Amino acid sequence: MDAIVEMTKSRDPEQYEFHQAVKEVVESVKPVLDRNPEYRQQAVLERITEPERVVMFRVPWMADSGQVKVNRGFRVEMNSAIGPYKGGLRFHPSVNLGIIKFLAFEQVFKNSLTTLAMGGGKGGSDFDPKGKSDNEVMRFCQSFMAELFRHIGANTDVPAGDIGVGAREIGYLFGMYKKIKNEFTGVLTGKSLNWGGSLIRPEATGYGVVYFAAEMMQTRDETLEGKTCLVSGSGNVAQFTTQKILDLGGKVVTLSDSAGYIYDEKGIDRDKLAFVMELKNLRRGRIYEYADKYPEAVYTPVDPNLDYNPLWNHPAQCAMPCATQNEINEKDANNLLKNGVYLVSEGANMPSTPEAVDIFIDNTILYGPGKAANAGGVAVSGLEMAQNSMRLSWPRDEVDDRLKQIMHSIHKTCVDAATSYGQSGNYVAGANIAGFVKVVNAMLDQGLV
Ligand code: NDP
Repeated sequence: MDAIVEMTKSRDPEQYEFHQAVKEVVESVKPVLDRNPEYRQQAVLERITEPERVVMFRVPWMADSGQVKVNRGFRVEMNSAIGPYKGGLRFHPSVNLGIIKFLAFEQVFKNSLTTLAMGGGKGGSDFDPKGKSDNEVMRFCQSFMAELFRHIGANTDVPAGDIGVGAREIGYLFGMYKKIKNEFTGVLTGKSLNWGGSLIRPEATGYGVVYFAAEMMQTRDETLEGKTCLVSGSGNVAQFTTQKILDLGGKVVTLSDSAGYIYDEKGIDRDKLAFVMELKNLRRGRIYEYADKYPEAVYTPVDPNLDYNPLWNHPAQCAMPCATQNEINEKDANNLLKNGVYLVSEGANMPSTPEAVDIFIDNTILYGPGKAANAGGVAVSGLEMAQNSMRLSWPRDEVDDRLKQIMHSIHKTCVDAATSYGQSGNYVAGANIAGFVKVVNAMLDQGLV
């Protein structure tokens, strides 16, 4: 098993996040390989850690000033054993091949857990939409799609949003795809409602994170009612995580962006959340404005000299990291426990470092890893694909009920898989084992391809 991790490191030494994601899965599935010797003979780990296809391309576009800019585009088609590649596009200056590969790898297991027929992929660009005009974003998206279109399709690879890619970007991307291909298909998910989107898709990741948290609470005969929650981020996932926590009677006291965070001890109520949504989604402003509007809140800018994030150092019972990878380190994990947190449900992908994960597991808190807890987003994307194929739109309640059912089923699958391998209560082991076994068995059924 160590050799697999070493191989991924020596092949691509700079892809740190990918190594991290591979190491976690490989460690979890060791007992599965011990129980199924044919998996080793069939080199399933070597196969599952190597993308089926990687596409990298130049994205030239023109700024409003007339200056030509060039960004790099990526699409990693990781695994199509159980369905067309499926996974979001991330536009953020930190994007590189290692980050897209880690996200694509995680996506394979996540999609497998949803019970829907979706393989795993991910893509994006180092383009930063922040501070760009709508026209600049449109020109960038059109140039990005002018290359991506040849690699995707409703039955081949179906991208969606992620950091920096929301309804506006999906609209521009879809428009260009439709123009080039002259066809109106469900090639992207996260579309607007009046041209093929699904009700509940914008809400799905955040709602799912909270449904998963509620399932974990239920194992201890508890609910989220009256619980104080620390939420990071202030984008799509953070907003709807906050909304669903309010629905279930909990209180959210923090939100953040990459420049800092706000702490509102009284709680972010529905009016305050509406302000955040308007601030972030329409005005594309910064979270410090929350503290200008609501003086009872305290804004703390990011301090690059700190080796911990003070957001995770407030009294609470629950934490929902919804910003980005590795945002909770060892010190943050200890601070969370010290402050009374005993449930972590991850909205972001891989937001906890391996050291932080070990602390959560060693202390037997309720820890739902991203690939299980945030799978609601891709699950409803799968439902959007189904509705597009039938040219139908399901009502809001129907999609929400299906989402709830899927999160319940993912939770049960994780619990059962962990228990059957003697690791009761370990959702990391459960998610990795269950996601892995389904994909690997499909790969073996389909021969050496
Ligand atoms: P958004 O772009 O809507 O929001 C991202 C939020 O995280 C913003 O508040 C952003 O702040 C903050 N953020 C981004 N990068 C950093 C960073 N390096 N350091 C600190 N803060 C940062 O993205 P989403 O809400 O869609 O995605 C958030 C997380 O959820 C990601 O990890 C994504 O992969 C994951 N996810 C998303 C799904 C979806 O359906 N959208 C599905 C499953 C997982 P700022 O504005 O300053 O950049």
